[in-house]
Amino acid sequence: MAEPVVKYKNVTKSFGEVDVLKGINLDIAPAEKIALIGPSGSGKTTIIRLLMTLEEPTSGIIEVNSQNLWQMEKKGKMVRANEKHLRQIRGDIGMVFQHFNLFPHMTILENCMTGPIHVKGQSKEEARKNAIEMLEKVGLGDKVDNFPNQLSGGQKQRVAMARALVMRPKVMLFDEVTSALDPELVGEVLEVIREIAKEGEMAMILVTHEMDFARDVADRIIFLEDGVISEQGTPEEVLGNT
Ligand code: ADP
Ligand code: ADP
Repeated sequence: MAEPVVKYKNVTKSFGEVDVLKGINLDIAPAEKIALIGPSGSGKTTIIRLLMTLEEPTSGIIEVNSQNLWQMEKKGKMVRANEKHLRQIRGDIGMVFQHFNLFPHMTILENCMTGPIHVKGQSKEEARKNAIEMLEKVGLGDKVDNFPNQLSGGQKQRVAMARALVMRPKVMLFDEVTSALDPELVGEVLEVIREIAKEGEMAMILVTHEMDFARDVADRIIFLEDGVISEQGTPEEVLGNT
């Protein structure tokens, strides 16, 4: 098997006295699509926040592209990773949140240009061209000059996806991206994710309650219960053929 793009080795996370993750071991292969499923409070968001380096693990190791997120080797000795090192690793990770998190004062085109310009150092022209291409791909080519508040929830979520994708991440994280949407808007967002997943090369972690969607898109389904992986396998293995 190819070297995993993401690796959790015996990862625990406690908030004070509360042990939220109790020893997570998880290897994600390049291009692998993972659905993370579990009851509220089981630790799904925490697993994702650790990978985004929004939280630090209590113990264990998390690697992206074989690079330790929290420590690095310097002259044969492990030291805490610095901000510059973290920024560089984080560049490989894209995320879409439940609540869009778009910049309200920017047009949707500008929302999709700012990361490539300021983080990737692309020229304005290059960033504009790539952003338009990606917005067309998510079906919003006619909305590029609109502001977020002029869009429906489903359209906002598709902008959020385009904004993450223009960064060309190696891993995309989707944290319950449809749970804040009106039911009639869920389908269009799931459809875009299906399309992205089919293109292949990116790994994805999808936190979702949509079982049919998980079955369609995921190579592997992982059930989390009370901070441990309780079951995992292909959709056929864990959900059967019905
Ligand atoms: P899920 O995404 O599966 O609903 P979370 O990862 O959000 O689960 O949360 C798991 C548990 O960790 C919950 O009991 C939650 O209250 C707790 N938790 C999450 N973040 C914090 C925090 N910053 N401080 C204290 N407890 C937290
Ligand atoms: P989600 O809807 O993604 O599960 P939550 O509403 O559980 O998110 O949590 C939102 C934020 O509050 C997160 O940053 C989480 O870390 C934090 N949080 C969750 N539970 C607690 C808690 N018991 N104490 C402190 N912070 C918490």
